[in-house]
Amino acid sequence: MGTVATLSAEGEEAQAAVTESIHRLQELEAMVSFEEPDSDLNRLVEAAGKDFVPLHPEIYALLAVSQEYSRQSDGAWDVTAAPLVELWGIGTAKARVPAPQEIEQAKALVGWPKLLLRSDDNSAMLTEPGMKLDLGGIMKGLAIDEARKIYERHGITRGLINLGTSSLYAVGSRADGSPWRIGLRRPEGDDPKDYWGVVNLREAALSTSGDYERFFTADGERYHHIIDPRAGYPAKTNLTAVTIVVQSGETAGMRSDLLSTLVFVMGAEAGEKFLRQLPYSVQGVLLLENGRQVVIGDLPLEMKSRP
Ligand code: AMP
Ligand code: MG
Repeated sequence: MGTVATLSAEGEEAQAAVTESIHRLQELEAMVSFEEPDSDLNRLVEAAGKDFVPLHPEIYALLAVSQEYSRQSDGAWDVTAAPLVELWGIGTAKARVPAPQEIEQAKALVGWPKLLLRSDDNSAMLTEPGMKLDLGGIMKGLAIDEARKIYERHGITRGLINLGTSSLYAVGSRADGSPWRIGLRRPEGDDPKDYWGVVNLREAALSTSGDYERFFTADGERYHHIIDPRAGYPAKTNLTAVTIVVQSGETAGMRSDLLSTLVFVMGAEAGEKFLRQLPYSVQGVLLLENGRQVVIGDLPLEMKSRP
């Protein structure tokens, strides 16, 4: 998943919970890896334009959640954006500004309605050859949800399931009963430990998407890794970062992960509206380019002054 996972747990079965979770993360990674010829994603790509492909139930469930949010967001969130993500190559050595006709070509292979799901047998199909899926904005969330289930089975009452700090789950609270303290990174500057705020978190999933995570500059313009699939370009938005906290449900990790990306693409106004009409409550904070913050729900946020 292109990240470093850090798992901590407290309890009699802590070691077992962590070992099993790591094993589970590796299993999940293999299901979606493009290096594994038989992975769900490779089989989908091979059968694109031809056949439905049976998937692991957890990957099917992930795609079902993903499609629901693509529909609701009018394609701002869309895992079929892979051809665009690859074309831009942001975060890789091949990052560059593509020519407009390349973007048009890639866009022809993008669109959530061209990913078909069949619930009878947990299968899916990409309707056109050349289509591909990119789960980079949601897979860490699934991993968190799965690790959390393992923690529950082992009776873990405190711990952190941390997939590279941008997506994590805080299990219970700290030993003294106080909440976990999660730093929100200051977007400008290179120090990942320089926080502009701290979220006090108890039993919840938290994800952050920001334009400072992966980007490159060309001709003085900054291009980041969150794509607006409808435009074919890195999302032009008035946001620099979005942090979402989801408290409830088995898919809390997935939803916080995809929502932070989705809201980033939508921008502050539409994103805030989207969050407020969800059928469950979320908390969060949108960090605007002009330095302003929009707090969603009663997020327990502490502001930090500069050191
Ligand atoms: P995150 O860092 O969680 O916001 O996820 C960003 C990653 O999600 C990118 O690196 C891409 O792999 C993928 N991605 C980019 N734009 C989108 C989008 N509009 N919808 C779904 N996935 C995306
Ligand atoms: Mg995400």
